[in-house]
Amino acid sequence: MRVAVVGSGPSGCYTAQSLVQLNPEVLVDVLDRLPCPYGLVRYGVAPDHEKIKSLQNNLRTVLEHDRVRFLGGVGIGPGGVLAARLRELYDAVVYCVGAATDRHLGIPGEDLPGSWSATEFVSWYSAHPDATADGFTTGVRSAVVIGVGNVAVDVTRILARGVTELSPTDMPQTALTALAASRVTDIHMVGRRGPSQARFTTKELRELGGLPDTEVDVQAEELALDPAYLDPSALPAPQRRNVEVLRGWADAVRQDAPRRIALRFFLRPVELLTDGGRVGAVRFERTTPDGRGGVIGTGQFEEIQAQLVLRSVGYLGVPLEGLPFDPATGTVPHLAGRVLREGTVSPGEYVAGWIKRGPTGVIGTNRPCAKETATSLLEDALTLVAEDRHEDPLTVLRAWGVDPVEWTGWQAIEQAEARLGASLGRRVVKLPDWQSLMNAAHGSTD
Ligand code: NAP
Repeated sequence: MRVAVVGSGPSGCYTAQSLVQLNPEVLVDVLDRLPCPYGLVRYGVAPDHEKIKSLQNNLRTVLEHDRVRFLGGVGIGPGGVLAARLRELYDAVVYCVGAATDRHLGIPGEDLPGSWSATEFVSWYSAHPDATADGFTTGVRSAVVIGVGNVAVDVTRILARGVTELSPTDMPQTALTALAASRVTDIHMVGRRGPSQARFTTKELRELGGLPDTEVDVQAEELALDPAYLDPSALPAPQRRNVEVLRGWADAVRQDAPRRIALRFFLRPVELLTDGGRVGAVRFERTTPDGRGGVIGTGQFEEIQAQLVLRSVGYLGVPLEGLPFDPATGTVPHLAGRVLREGTVSPGEYVAGWIKRGPTGVIGTNRPCAKETATSLLEDALTLVAEDRHEDPLTVLRAWGVDPVEWTGWQAIEQAEARLGASLGRRVVKLPDWQSLMNAAHGSTD
């Protein structure tokens, strides 16, 4: 049985792993649009989170399994291989394409120069080859990060970090140089609900308190607007721990550090205000709990000055041509991972990861999710395997003019990144653009 897994991030790799572990005969091709594997582990996990980054080693083991093959640089959809044609090459296809875009706020001024999605900023410092924007911190003293999830914490932390801490990471040289020259002194991370409802995890939150030359500023009276802050006893443990960390900061004696991270709550963004054609401030409305877990506006407003705004309000799945899609959830309708077309199981098509369950959970959440899908697929195996399909899909792809980057090509990219790092007196440094990635993959020194 030959299975294509589309996407080589955690959900794709864990799906491949489950398939080969659960069945001794299945052969898996893991396809990716990029010439590099690992998805958000390479292009989303913050460069200073080395421990999480090292999960790449686990994913590598999967892609180096003798019944798994990595085929990079293969886009699925218009301009690449259409989903229907891919399906002809394999007995089954599992889509693990993640949630490729970001949610919007839908407020005036959102698109002003200086206002970016957190994803754009993350892609820049992660060297994603599609990232074209730069100059995020040029002329910026004060930044506002909208949202209080783990991505908001990541971008806040990277803005607050100094060059000494960033230099050992694999951050591309242009981003390192720009962040080294940054004069950002104030970062305001703002939640529309209360501290007990923030989405960040305690480990990530606590890390903000350990940044050199940076103090975390919270307002006790603002935290106290949340009834659960005053009496956290009924909160689930993760939220209670968050509240305890925040209380510790509220009780701490103010220092006078060169940089400040202000954690704000009960403020919902209503407009980004312009200053000379760029963003100059964010106008927020003070909110108050509605007693049902949500908030309502109070009619009181506050402006926070900011020359940089990072909107970190979650990812969103995008439709893939040829697959059904539920725009309300940004996911593909499914039954235990089996793609549903108008409520009926579509033979040989599966989903796993964020395109299956939405953009939530940590990397490990993808393991059981992928296993469920792999189990469904293998239960269906007898109905899927086509007797007359004997040709290696790679041969057919090549005949169609597609020239995948195979594992050796990826290893050549890794070697080029090690050489680049050595030439800059750093460790591994990522190649930031398509041309240099493809040159490295194809062994060219141009
Ligand atoms: P998230 O956890 O869903 O957080 C989104 C934040 O945006 C929430 O605070 C949400 O507030 C807020 N928000 C949404 N719409 C808003 C609006 N219109 N106005 C103001 N605020 C709004 O998303 P994420 O931070 O992008 O993270 C995605 C997933 O990746 C999460 O599961 C996260 O844990 C994971 N992740 C993990 C790590 C790590 O483990 N180190 C790092 C990065 C990401 P409400 O709650 O009020 O909706």
